[in-house]
Amino acid sequence: QQLPADSNVSNTRRQVFDAAFSFVSPRVPSKPKLIHVADEVAELFGISKAETQSLDFLNLVSGSSVYPDSKPYAMAYAGHQFGNWAGQLGDGRAINLFEVLHNNQRWTLQLKGAGETPYSRTADGFAVLRSSIREHLCSEAMYYLGVPTTRSLSLVTTGDKVLRDVLYNGNAAYEDGAVVCRVAPSFIRFGNFQLFAARKDIKNLKTLADYTIQYFYPEITVSGKEKYLQFYQEVVNRTVEMVLHWQRVGFVHGVMNTDNMSILGLTIDYGPYGWLEDYDPDWTPNTTDAEGRRYRFRNQPDIALWNLVQLGNALYPLIEDIASMEQVLNSYSQQFDSQFPILQQQKLGLLAEYDTPFQDELITLLTASETDMTIFYRNLANVVKTDTSDEALAKIALAFYQPDKIVATLKTSWLNWMELYLEKIKAEVLSDEERKQAMNTINPKYVLRNYMAQLAIEAAEKEDYTLIDELYTLLKNPYDEQPQYEKWFAKRPDWARHKVGCSM
Ligand code: AMP
Ligand code: MG
Ligand code: MG
Repeated sequence: QQLPADSNVSNTRRQVFDAAFSFVSPRVPSKPKLIHVADEVAELFGISKAETQSLDFLNLVSGSSVYPDSKPYAMAYAGHQFGNWAGQLGDGRAINLFEVLHNNQRWTLQLKGAGETPYSRTADGFAVLRSSIREHLCSEAMYYLGVPTTRSLSLVTTGDKVLRDVLYNGNAAYEDGAVVCRVAPSFIRFGNFQLFAARKDIKNLKTLADYTIQYFYPEITVSGKEKYLQFYQEVVNRTVEMVLHWQRVGFVHGVMNTDNMSILGLTIDYGPYGWLEDYDPDWTPNTTDAEGRRYRFRNQPDIALWNLVQLGNALYPLIEDIASMEQVLNSYSQQFDSQFPILQQQKLGLLAEYDTPFQDELITLLTASETDMTIFYRNLANVVKTDTSDEALAKIALAFYQPDKIVATLKTSWLNWMELYLEKIKAEVLSDEERKQAMNTINPKYVLRNYMAQLAIEAAEKEDYTLIDELYTLLKNPYDEQPQYEKWFAKRPDWARHKVGCSM
């Protein structure tokens, strides 16, 4: 195809063949400004706090200048979106800058929102401030919760306006552009493998698998087909672990398309994500998924498996052994089914075997009562063996969004459940203090509720960034009591009811 003489050849949107990535240049922002840095991420590759305040740092993380001798690139990938094959996707607004080796760890730095790439399709390659704040804060919050995740080094505004919506009156809604610098050992996704498999490009499929194993799964030392089978097994193991963590903390990813599944089992792509507040297993924060609710909270474990099946289809040409691959897939359910009940018991501070009717009744009650998940599990840890069921119920009352409804219809059921719970904790060896400590290491006190991010966004849109700072600091210790921040241990306010995330 003939390209117009003035076209930016390297950034032209196109199908890219026989390659895993394309070299691209970040767009130079007109007035970059550093809004926030996660100092501990900078330390991962030896950048001191003082250095993050330098012009060099701003230039690097805003895309203003490219590090000497580095060649930024966007990756090609494909994927299933909402269950449908979508063909070539790729980094439409993410640009990998370079890799750093520090303390024997490999880190890729990636700008999100630094302009178009060959994979931008019909979009602009930019990101707006609100979604960038959400990604920056949530990546770090998840890390400190102990959930495998990509990290976020920095948040900058670009000084450029980005068009996102056309208002009902026909006026254009321009928003502040922003760039987040994401960090991970690698950003390779299931979709990178799917792209080559779909094109029957087995040569590159193998090269990509070999590369991924060599650098990120070095413990795999066998060769031949067994190597790729072990690799598949490892990805399954890491994915189970990631999803268990999501279910533990009440995180709903919202867009579990196969292109948003990290080959390292990291939570990646913080778009319309949300946190379960009133306990509704059918909730999804993604408005574009409102109909089918494919990515609702309770579907996440099954969807991860579905995605792993797609990965298996992509890896098949390298393994060619259906029976072994099925075994690997079966191990997903085996692992999940054995670990999930343990987790559910641990969240209640119980050592005994999973009690199905007791746990099922809890889910029924949590759902029927509109109970705040985080507050419920956290405050349940305050129950002591000598409590009456009334006293115990009073300790979790803060979690109810509609206390009147509990009194009117659900109080007896709750008291019955509490009675059983008290019997159980009395029968166990842990002291009240020991149980509380154990529960408080897996049930966070603070999560990034949608309304919290929303308040930080509204302030930032008025150039007040103090809340970003405060939430970042708060969420660094999500399991600790932080009396100065007690106001964030609260149900979402009414105005934030059923607020959804944003993906753009
Ligand atoms: P997501 O739903 O965020 O996983 O995005 C799906 C695909 O759309 C990926 O290939 C993204 O890179 C691309 N994409 C999303 N937003 C933009 C944007 N503003 N500009 C260019 N590409 C985008
Ligand atoms: Mg994505
Ligand atoms: Mg996204």
